[in-house]
Amino acid sequence: MSEPLIQFSKVNKKYGHIQALKDVSVSFNKGEFISIFGPNGAGKSTFLKLLCTMTGPSSGDILFEGTPLKKLKDDYRSKFGVISHQPFLYSELTALENLRFYGGLYGVEKIDERIKEILTKVELYKRRNDKVRGYSRGMLQRLSIARALIHDPEIVVLDEPYTGLDTHASGILTNILLELFDDKKTIIMVTHNIKQGYDASSRLAIIKGGKFVFNDEKSNISLDDFEKIYTEAVSK
Ligand code: ADP
Ligand code: MG
Repeated sequence: MSEPLIQFSKVNKKYGHIQALKDVSVSFNKGEFISIFGPNGAGKSTFLKLLCTMTGPSSGDILFEGTPLKKLKDDYRSKFGVISHQPFLYSELTALENLRFYGGLYGVEKIDERIKEILTKVELYKRRNDKVRGYSRGMLQRLSIARALIHDPEIVVLDEPYTGLDTHASGILTNILLELFDDKKTIIMVTHNIKQGYDASSRLAIIKGGKFVFNDEKSNISLDDFEKIYTEAVSK
C-alpha cells in the first residue's frame, strides 16, 4: 500500500485548558471525499485548521505523504483550497480584481482564462466588474468558492459550506464538488446535513469530544445505518 495522503498520529490540540482534539490518529488517502459530522464544539474546525496549517498541534505529528508537516516548505499550504465562514474577499475590489489578486499570490498561469472559467462556474461572470461591497450573501459565498479554487488546489477543505446558501447556490456547490471528486481531488468537508454529506462522500467520519468516534468508507454503511450511528453517537 502507498503512503496515505495525510496522516494524523496521536495529535492533541489544546487552547489553554480546553482540549479541542484528543490523541487523534487518522489517515486519509488521495482522491477520497471525506464528510465529517459532529456536534458543535466537537473539534471539527480545529481538525481542519491543523490539516491546512492554520494552527499547529500541541503534541503529535501530522504527515503529508509520509513527511512531517514541520519539514515541509510553505508550498504545502498552496496545495489547499479552503472554504470557511470567512470569505477572505476585499469589499472595495470587484470580483475580477479579487481573483486577480489571489491568482497572483499563487502564480496562476493564464489568469484571465482561469478567472473566466471559475466565475462562469459559480455563475458570477456577468457580475465580474461589480464591487464585492454590493454583493448579496449568496453571491459572496459563491465568490469565496471561486477564490478558494482559483489555483486548482489538490486538496479542498470546506467548513460547513452549505450554511447560508440558498437552494440554487447549494446546487452550484454540489456540482463543483462532484466535478472536483471526478477530477481525483481530495475533499474534506465538515457539514451538518447528513444526507447531503453522505451522498457526496466516499468516506464518513464523526468527531465528538475531540475524538474520531467513527471513520469508515461509505460503501460499508447505508444512509439509514449511518443516521442511527450519528444520532446515537451525538446523544451519548
Ligand atoms: P467545532 O468546529 O466542532 O464546532 P471547534 O474545533 O471550533 O469545534 O472547537 C473545539 C473546542 O475548542 C471548543 O470547545 C472551542 O470553544 C475551542 N476553541 C476553538 N478555537 C479556539 C480558540 N481559538 N481559542 C480558544 N478555544 C478555542
Ligand atoms: Mg466549526
